[in-house]
Amino acid sequence: MIAVGINGYGTIGKRVADAVDRQPDMRVTGVTKTQATHEAWTAKERSFPLHAPSDSARTALEEAGLPVAGSIDDLVTASDVMVDATPSGIGAEYEGLYADHGTPAIFQGGEAPDIAPVSFNSQVSYDETRRAGRTRVLSCNGTGLCRVIATLDRRFGVESAQATIVRRGGDPDQPDRGPINDIVPDPISVPSHHGTDLERVFPEIPVTTMALTVPTTLMHVHTVSLELETDPTAAAARRTLAEQSRCSVLESEYGPTSCGSLLEFVRDRRPRGDLWENAIWGESVTVRDGTVSLIQAIHQESDVIPETIDAVRALDGSVDAETSRARTDVSLGLGFETPRRESATPEPG
Ligand code: NAD
Repeated sequence: MIAVGINGYGTIGKRVADAVDRQPDMRVTGVTKTQATHEAWTAKERSFPLHAPSDSARTALEEAGLPVAGSIDDLVTASDVMVDATPSGIGAEYEGLYADHGTPAIFQGGEAPDIAPVSFNSQVSYDETRRAGRTRVLSCNGTGLCRVIATLDRRFGVESAQATIVRRGGDPDQPDRGPINDIVPDPISVPSHHGTDLERVFPEIPVTTMALTVPTTLMHVHTVSLELETDPTAAAARRTLAEQSRCSVLESEYGPTSCGSLLEFVRDRRPRGDLWENAIWGESVTVRDGTVSLIQAIHQESDVIPETIDAVRALDGSVDAETSRARTDVSLGLGFETPRRESATPEPG
């Protein structure tokens, strides 16, 4: 069993902990909390040992009556792999601690890319990560775009990529983030950092991204165009995407046709309502003169979770990428289909 410690038990950290708990070859050694927020009680209810990253955190947790199992040092010592899910930029403060213990570490996309020699996606950089000893999982937007580029590149070859990213203003538990009534070029510069990040993973493919932040907490939406080396039919492109277990190609006849209805559809089927897959609207997948275009929705809180689990196995070195991906998919229950006519005949092409 791979012993996994999680530093930071917020939006991403609590989802990583639950996902680790569902793996047949992993166990949670503990999680950290700096404050006695409701998530600390969730960790206690889930029987994840609470660790304090500082003396003030220990005091806050103990004063609230929460049991503290140990310090962050104890947690790193007890863990084979650390997942850092602290807020953007804070992971860098822990880099030295993980290194001093010789414990492989996974950082999240809010950290600067140079925090690790490799940015992680299990389709592209699994073996490289194995050798690197630490990694940074691509951001939620980066992960969603990487899956599409990697999948279509493997089958048809991708010459260049363009995407517009409509970013959610904040997560559902971030009432202080905005905008509340605006559409903000974020960043104004082109390409946005998402494209630069992806070019590190695909050095041969120019990736131009532009990003706008809007007043929603639901999801991100991407419009994507990829110039291909070949000129497949739209049906072939759709099939190729649908065969990727972390992409779901949606039928829209019976819905869902918006982010809100998509999340409602998923909540009807999954306890936390997490959507780990890219949700690609099938009708949007079109090909003109060798350029494939599509529209997809990305659930920012959960799409990086399967990749983080694969990153644990990549760093541990226990299994290869395909085995890890399959194990992660089965244990989390990835893959869903939206309603479609039983009698529908397969698309030609
Ligand atoms: P969050 O604020 O929801 O959770 C962070 C947790 O870390 C909180 O529990 C907080 O109390 C704790 N923390 C704060 N300071 C700490 C410290 N010094 N030591 C230990 N713990 C500390 O943040 P999040 O949204 O889970 O983001 C975590 C990382 O994941 C960031 O790098 C972020 O960019 C990345 N990420 C976030 C999302 C998203 O949509 N939320 C998506 C993909 C990647």
